[in-house]
Amino acid sequence: MREPDGVRTGPASQQGMRRANLALVLGVIASGPRSRAEVAAETGLTRAAVSSLTEQLIAGGLVVEAGPATPSGKVGRPGTALGLNPLGPGGLGAEIGVRHLGACVVDLRGEVRAVRRREVANHGREPAAVMADLAALLRAAVAEAGLRPAGLTLAVPGLVDTSGALLRRAANLDWQDVPLAAELRAALRPAADGLAELPVEADNEANLGGLAERWLGDGPEDFLYVSAEAGVGAAIVVGGRLLRGARGYAGEFGHVPVHPGGPRCACGAHGCLERYAGDAAVLRAAGLAGARGDWVPLLAERAAAGQESARAALAGAGSALGIAAAGAVNLLDPAEVVLGGGYARLAPWLLPAMRAELTARVTVRPWSEDRLTVSRLGRRGPLLGAAVSVVRAIVADPAPLAGG
Ligand SMILES: [Zn+2]
Repeated sequence: MREPDGVRTGPASQQGMRRANLALVLGVIASGPRSRAEVAAETGLTRAAVSSLTEQLIAGGLVVEAGPATPSGKVGRPGTALGLNPLGPGGLGAEIGVRHLGACVVDLRGEVRAVRRREVANHGREPAAVMADLAALLRAAVAEAGLRPAGLTLAVPGLVDTSGALLRRAANLDWQDVPLAAELRAALRPAADGLAELPVEADNEANLGGLAERWLGDGPEDFLYVSAEAGVGAAIVVGGRLLRGARGYAGEFGHVPVHPGGPRCACGAHGCLERYAGDAAVLRAAGLAGARGDWVPLLAERAAAGQESARAALAGAGSALGIAAAGAVNLLDPAEVVLGGGYARLAPWLLPAMRAELTARVTVRPWSEDRLTVSRLGRRGPLLGAAVSVVRAIVADPAPLAGG
């Protein structure tokens, strides 16, 4: 996946400098409307350089004159404010879930312009059939948004080799070694709308959910994001960036051991977190094994209605989550543990047991309860993160689109 934190220019070639300066100027404008004078003051570039760079960004459709800027205290006419172009290149996000597909278009400012969701049971389906459905959904979202996307990022529930957009394994889809980008491009191909030519990236859904929390939610610099859809996932954000690990597979939180002598997990080990806090495990504990439909509203409605078996099942999941999260907190010292994805709606019944385990097990005491928080983005996180990752990459390196 793209790293939207800066541009490595190598030797200070003139072209490299201009590329870096385009990113510097656009980064300032992206943080809120600015006059050219303000951009110059904030970047340390000359006014002439800022004028030239902003002309290039305007010509590339990335920046627009957004009206008069607030006078900056100096005598003279206020400058015209520059802002990100809401009609400029957008970001296209896609999501393949076990029971749904999603598509989302955001504009350059990261604002949602269209969202589509379709419930469909994807477990065991051929990737080509799933991609055909996804392509139709993406096309509908792009038509509704009326923006030209500059790239596409796909969120999937599995281990992803991000360098090649290759899905190594998604047990809950029963997919292995699927070339996601190639499959999706093939599904988008027989059309003249250009979507098949977009650069395609892919990432694990929890990683994108964690990044969305950082970019759009309340995520601090350092936090652990824990989510559940089918299976349990996590994203570790350190210094505002995702910790990916040596091979890119960090965050397999569902396979942290909770009870070493516990039941056998699909991964081959015993007593993994997923066997206590995954959707199938919680449904079974609630006496709802094999229930059809969406597990989150099913459990939430029963727990809210006071059904004891649902509440006990969620308390058990919360306890297992707390044991596993305490290990992560002791190891990483995050500022927060954020419950996201399907867990966000179930939080009222997960949190008490989770807090109790964290309080008992985190070594640096007292463990402050307000360090355990609930995502406002909930289940929308991964899809939003996918779409926003595209526009953040443009802002981090606008030169390819600004003719630089
Ligand atoms: Zn396991």
